[in-house]
Amino acid sequence: MKQSDYLKYPLIWRKDDFFIKIYASIPNIATGILITTDKATFIADPGDGILRDLNKDVGAVTILKVSDIFISHGHHDHVGGVWSLLTYLSVMRKKSALNIFYPKGCKEIESIYHAFVKVYGKELSYQINLKPIDNSKSFKRNSVSIKPFKVNHRELSDDGKTSSLVPSLGFKFIYDSKSICYGGDTAYCESLAKNAKDSDLAIIEAGASGENATDLHMTIRQATEIGKTAKDYFLVHVPG
Ligand SMILES: [Zn+2]
Ligand SMILES: [Zn+2]
Repeated sequence: MKQSDYLKYPLIWRKDDFFIKIYASIPNIATGILITTDKATFIADPGDGILRDLNKDVGAVTILKVSDIFISHGHHDHVGGVWSLLTYLSVMRKKSALNIFYPKGCKEIESIYHAFVKVYGKELSYQINLKPIDNSKSFKRNSVSIKPFKVNHRELSDDGKTSSLVPSLGFKFIYDSKSICYGGDTAYCESLAKNAKDSDLAIIEAGASGENATDLHMTIRQATEIGKTAKDYFLVHVPG
C-alpha cells in the first residue's frame, strides 16, 4: 500500500449485518466512525464533520437511533463534533436516552457536556448519560458486547519537551461472534496487540510521522505488525 492509500475515506467493512464506516481519521483534523448492526447504531469518536457526514450518508432517521457514543480520548480530532451532534438530536426531538462512554478523567468530554447542559438543558428532548470507564470490564449495548481496554497515548506539554499520559481507551465490539477492535490513538502497547489479535477487523492508528516510533503514536510499520495479527485491518490516523 502506498501512503496515499491510507487516506482514502470513507473506509467500509461489513460482515453480515455488522457494519462499520470510518468517514475520516485524520490527525489534528477529525475522526468519525459509525458502527451498526440490525439492532444497534453507535458512533465512535465524533470529530468535526460527523453530523454533516451522517446527515449526507444515512439521514435523520438513523442519526436519531444513535444510542451510544464511544470516545477513545479527549483530543479535539476525536470529540470536535460532539456539541453539534448533541444539539441536532435535541432540535430533532430525540426521545430515547444517549449514553456517552469515555475514559475516566477525560476533561474535554465532561466540559462539553456541562457547557451543553447549561445552554440547552431546559429544552433538551432526551437524556444524556455520561459513562466514565476506568476498567476493562465488558458490557452489552443492544446485543453488542463492548470490551474497553486502556491504551498508551500521550500529549506534549506546553514546553514541547515532555509528554504526559492522556486518559485513553480502545474498544472491542463483538456481535454475533464477529469482532471489531478500534484502538483509538496510542503508542505501541500490549493491550492493543492482544485485543487486535484474531479480531475480524482491527482499526489501528499509524499517527507517527516518519519511521521513528514515538510515545505518542505508532509508525506504519508498528501498526501493520499489529494489524496483520487480525483477519482484516485498516490503518487510520495516518498523517497526510
Ligand atoms: Zn487523534
Ligand atoms: Zn490523540
